[in-house]
Amino acid sequence: MPELDLFNPTPEHAQLREMVRRFAESEVEPQALEHDRTETFNVALFRKLGELGLLGITAQEEFGGTGLDPVAACIVHEELSAVDPGFTLAYLAHSMLFVNNLAQNGSDAQRKKYLPAACSGEAICGMCMSEPDAGTDVLGMRTTAKRDGDHYVLDGAKMWITNGAISKTELGDTFLVYARVEGAGRSELSMFIVEKGMAGFSLGQKIEDKLGMRASTTAELVFEGCRVPVENRVGEEGTATLHMMRNLEIERVTLAAMSLGIARRSVEVMNEYARDRKSFGEPLNRFGQIQRHIAESYAEYMAGRAYTYLIASQMDLAKPGQRLDTDGVKLFCSTMGKNVADRAIQVLGGYGYTGEYRVERLWRDAKLLEIGGGTIEAHQKNMTRDLSRLEKLK
Ligand SMILES: Cc1cc2nc3c(=O)[nH]c(=O)nc-3n(C[C@H](O)[C@H](O)[C@H](O)COP(=O)(O)OP(=O)(O)OC[C@H]3O[C@@H](n4cnc5c(N)ncnc54)[C@H](O)[C@@H]3O)c2cc1C
Repeated sequence: MPELDLFNPTPEHAQLREMVRRFAESEVEPQALEHDRTETFNVALFRKLGELGLLGITAQEEFGGTGLDPVAACIVHEELSAVDPGFTLAYLAHSMLFVNNLAQNGSDAQRKKYLPAACSGEAICGMCMSEPDAGTDVLGMRTTAKRDGDHYVLDGAKMWITNGAISKTELGDTFLVYARVEGAGRSELSMFIVEKGMAGFSLGQKIEDKLGMRASTTAELVFEGCRVPVENRVGEEGTATLHMMRNLEIERVTLAAMSLGIARRSVEVMNEYARDRKSFGEPLNRFGQIQRHIAESYAEYMAGRAYTYLIASQMDLAKPGQRLDTDGVKLFCSTMGKNVADRAIQVLGGYGYTGEYRVERLWRDAKLLEIGGGTIEAHQKNMTRDLSRLEKLK
């Protein structure tokens, strides 16, 4: 069992880490390279996460969730990502962007209707915020919702939606979709639950040939006169920008935890290789330049890990307010994870450049974490704005 410390503050956290690590190594890692190469989402394996109680990790138990905290969510993301970041991205889109978002912001009726199937894995879910012409400038989104009796009519397109498709032709099941009701101001977004099968909701382009995260699907979703019942609006009209900002906090912390998994695995791989591989009759780890790659990678990984778990331990999912540091952990860890994976390739030389040694896949997957859930430039912008309002640091 892992020791109790900042990364496993209670025996339950330590048991969770142990359980997820065992599952990740025995069931997730063996399939990772194949799904990366074939760009396919392993739906059967994903549903097993439901059996383990991981899909509703932060959702209330009465609605099928496990009722755990942000530290637990970080543990699961870190452990899964250490073996398969692509699969983990699908997990994050489902469990954080859909399940946690609805668990925190939905009504009891909506939670009762949608969360049990999402927590069991029967339904595969996601969240639709980005559009073809609006990413960082998310409030510039153009998807509209027009009230028509006891329905809203949604028109627009959402881009880059993880779990939008579960195969080349098949839509995911249920989505939280942000849109602007006619006449609402720039920051007055609304959120709707949209299900596969609703008239006017369809799969657009499935995005193929991504650099990394290929074991998760990414798709464009299209809304053409899509009729959504009024009871599927989450919260009041025009108030969903707050839901979005709150949910982005846990999204960023768990994305940072994914980078930690990538970094840990990369350090393990380069450490082992540099111990075993000889050059000029000496193990690689006797050479100063290799020592620098290994030692700096470990120290940066531990710094990112301490920052991430500290902020996770201070988060309250019902009362968020950690914008500066949730941007901060993602800013630091995403680039750290990419750099550490890059050094691992370098330490392994030619072998690092091939799939067998994993680190080329981890490096390709790591790059997405500088883009998705907010680009590093967006974090820099947000953090500088928040810091400019402070006289002194705590
Ligand atoms: C694999 C993948 C999965 C994704 N999954 C989802 C999902 O499930 N749901 C979802 O809603 N979205 C998802 N996204 C979308 C992701 O959040 C966006 O790609 C991201 O927010 C950036 O938006 P953009 O791609 O439109 O880039 P843009 O916003 O057009 O940015 C392009 C470049 O300009 C920079 N830039 C833009 N504005 C500024 C500024 N003001 N100052 C400085 N620099 C700026 C950016 O940092 C970036 O470098 C996913 C993306 C990918 C690639």
